[in-house]
Amino acid sequence: MKQTASALPDSAAIAPSDYVIIGGTGDLALRKIFPAFFYRYLDGQVTDAFRFVAAARKTGTLDEFIAKLRPFCEDAIASCQDGEAQFAQFMKLVSLTTLDVGTGKGGEDLKAFIDERISDARPVIFYMAISPALFGASCQLLQKVGLVTPSARLVVEKPLGHDAASAKAINDELRAVFDEDSIYRIDHYLGKETVQNLMALRFANTIFESQWNNTSIDHIQITVAESVGLEGRASYYNHYGALRDMIQNHLMQLVCLVAMEPPAQFQANQVRDEKLRVLRALRPVNPEQLSDNLIIGQYGEGHVNGTKAASYETELGEPSKIDTFAALKLYIENWRWAGVPFYIRTGKRMALRASEIVVTFKKRSHDIFANGATSSGDLPNQLVIRLQPQEGLRLQLISKQPGPGGMRLFPSELNLSFDDTFKTRLPDAYERLLMDVARGNQTLFMRHDEVMAAWDFMDPIIAAAAEKAPEIYPAGSFGPAAQEQLFDGTNAGWQAPVIDKE
Ligand code: NAP
Repeated sequence: MKQTASALPDSAAIAPSDYVIIGGTGDLALRKIFPAFFYRYLDGQVTDAFRFVAAARKTGTLDEFIAKLRPFCEDAIASCQDGEAQFAQFMKLVSLTTLDVGTGKGGEDLKAFIDERISDARPVIFYMAISPALFGASCQLLQKVGLVTPSARLVVEKPLGHDAASAKAINDELRAVFDEDSIYRIDHYLGKETVQNLMALRFANTIFESQWNNTSIDHIQITVAESVGLEGRASYYNHYGALRDMIQNHLMQLVCLVAMEPPAQFQANQVRDEKLRVLRALRPVNPEQLSDNLIIGQYGEGHVNGTKAASYETELGEPSKIDTFAALKLYIENWRWAGVPFYIRTGKRMALRASEIVVTFKKRSHDIFANGATSSGDLPNQLVIRLQPQEGLRLQLISKQPGPGGMRLFPSELNLSFDDTFKTRLPDAYERLLMDVARGNQTLFMRHDEVMAAWDFMDPIIAAAAEKAPEIYPAGSFGPAAQEQLFDGTNAGWQAPVIDKE
């Protein structure tokens, strides 16, 4: 399929802004935030009028910072002919400043630094790339030194709490200093091109809307599979697990986008109102029926991509009951979705890295081909939305097999591969989200009530799960066998994502 030339520019211009990355020397800043700015710089969206300040207790020299950042910018540097020169030019926009948000040391210096280099008229964006335990102290410090001005914006990201009470405490700390309209809570899944495309698919095409309900849809599956294990995040992960780390935020947000009603306008609060309605319509999971609705697992030894992989406990170095896999069956109690199960699952050390949404439509109510059809002609229509990798959409239809062998039906696919269609690099989610903060567009960010509604729903499930022992599954599989129980009473089962060799 060919892309039709668009009248829109590739990247809309954005007014120059100033970003202060608190925790600007850490892993998140180096791996995600600065490379995203650099890609936007290469595209011309970030101009020489932007400024970036990395603040931390020990910053080192700028040369040391550049040496640490460079490996994460290699792909971007290699993506254009004058990449080296562009990287050197981009780094002229970056300054370092020492700051300890715990003691307040360096706060006045940061204020002086910003006053000297940055004018009042443009947004100053404070990105908290630090532990949430320091969010409150950071906000108070910014306020104390006079940096919380009408043009100030705040960016935070997960983990926004460990449960509803701690999430409320964090939200209260942020909102005591910043207005809700100035707070940008990142769920980076919402910045993914395919996730945004889900909204385009649903709300820019008329053919799906009339089918997008319990009359036509049998069930929906969402799988977010990771092939990696702990990756050095043991102290964090072993307190969170899959239910808190992935389901409460990323997968809940995907459920919202699949299930929400069309907002009147594609406008931040309208989109967020609709997502909130979905969260509030989720049927609470009765702890007595937990095993019908929730399966948790933990990876044991196995092989991932042909390489031997240790068990979670071996990686961790101690026994643990934490869930590295969780699968949940949900129901949304409204007119559109009554009776349609949503099956969602995520896990670490799974057979491959892939995220996809599978919408399975109901089988035809009467089969005029019953006598001639092969069994595969009996499959239902499916829409598969691949979020990563090999982003795209596949619509499974039933066709007639060519040739004179009678009316033989077989499944075939309409395949929209974004790579083939758009022939362009899909930007990382952070690129889109960081530019949206500068634009002042909150559509792809979570409002505090959404975060709270997701925790309110998840809290009892997480509490009940803590009483269960996770089922061990081999690393390199798609999780514990028991997850199939969630489909009891139906003919469906989990559908494993299939990807071409990357
Ligand atoms: P990290 O590598 O440990 O970096 C933490 C940063 O914060 C460092 O720059 C550190 O520098 C600075 N810092 C620590 N205490 C400070 C203080 N009192 N005052 C000022 N700066 C301080 O952690 P990270 O992986 O980047 O993660 C940061 C946050 O983002 C965490 O909440 C994490 O859960 C979240 N997150 C991370 C990722 C990721 O991919 N890494 C993804 C999603 C969310 P100094 O020690 O020199 O002060």
